[in-house]
Amino acid sequence: MFDRIEHYAGDPILGLVSQFVADENPNKVNLGIGVYYDEDGKMPVLECVKTAEERIADPIKPRPYLPMQGLAGHRKGCQDLLFGADAAVLQEERVATIATIGGSGALKVGAEFINQWFPDAECYVSDPTWGNHIAIFEGSNITVKKYPYYDKATNSVRFDDMIACLKGMNKNDVVLLHPCCHNPTGMDLTQAQWDEVLDVIKAGELIPFMDIAYQGFGEDMDTDAYAIRKAVDMGLPLFVSNSFSKNLSLYGERVGGLSVVCPTKEEAERVFGQLTFTVRRIYSSPPSHGGHVVDIVMNDDALHEQWVGEVYAMRDRIKAMRSKLQAVLEEKVPNQNFDYLTRQNGMFSFTGLTPEQVERLRAEYGIYMVSNSRMCVAGLNSDNIDYIANAMAAVLQD
Ligand code: PMP
Repeated sequence: MFDRIEHYAGDPILGLVSQFVADENPNKVNLGIGVYYDEDGKMPVLECVKTAEERIADPIKPRPYLPMQGLAGHRKGCQDLLFGADAAVLQEERVATIATIGGSGALKVGAEFINQWFPDAECYVSDPTWGNHIAIFEGSNITVKKYPYYDKATNSVRFDDMIACLKGMNKNDVVLLHPCCHNPTGMDLTQAQWDEVLDVIKAGELIPFMDIAYQGFGEDMDTDAYAIRKAVDMGLPLFVSNSFSKNLSLYGERVGGLSVVCPTKEEAERVFGQLTFTVRRIYSSPPSHGGHVVDIVMNDDALHEQWVGEVYAMRDRIKAMRSKLQAVLEEKVPNQNFDYLTRQNGMFSFTGLTPEQVERLRAEYGIYMVSNSRMCVAGLNSDNIDYIANAMAAVLQD
């Protein structure tokens, strides 16, 4: 009966985790998965989250189902963060926001909605992008195509090629964009480039879908949302998926949001209804615990301020590791340019290593990166950075 079921080779990034766990090399370092580790190599529990957890636990309360759209405070938390608490678009009630099962859940609900209501739309993703973007949209029966994004030879954005590709898209095609901290390359558009991209999107009547999983890790909370807010100011329809996995260090709680910006309040109400119906028929309602943490941290002024400080501390540590790695590599491999490390933003760096070099790092040094050369810079710390730099220098020079 199940003979015809095809083998699933596993997810390339998640698969690295099990390989890493089984590795007996005492110096092993996991720079594969997109997770922030602190200076001690530990996943942090943020102080603001600890306070929220204490409030949730005292007294321990019953766990009713949440509504399909999640907690009101979770949804407001997403909206204020993405659009700015005083944004006119929020006062005008033109944004339909639901709490989702992480950023992945937001992408999935968005993809299902698009497939139902814009069945002819094709979805364009950056080349390269986070692999699950393609899998999620294709899994919702949407044709996925790529727009040029990254030039490995120069470690920069292929901006003219990207614009040319956008100009060839059809009305209502969906363009998946990373507002900050592009995954996997770490290379972001400048604000002037965003302005141009959004002009072309507007002229072509395309649908921008902005996926923001690292807000606060680039410049700051507001600057990282530049593209989102600019699209709103231009009056564009807009999908935004956001994740709190990284910036609240709440990976396993699965907290995120999906927001759809509409031209009118009346349309937003109908979109909201359809989003909740989409949720109802997939998983009915989102998980409760993480939703309460988001609600408490985002809506308590003191905790919110503390949270922003904690995110910026993570951001600053990553930036310091980027500079340090660049300095050590430039010293050890004098004929190569490593300035891409500090031109890139967020957790990831596209190192340009070949798949063979990535494999050598794993086999000989126990250093794990994704085979496309993506390194999670947030896995570096003062203890391991020299080891990693030496290993990279060795495989680059052989
Ligand atoms: N989008 C991007 C660009 C991501 O990097 C990730 C996480 N790796 C997600 C979405 C998914 O976020 P979550 O883990 O909250 O589902």
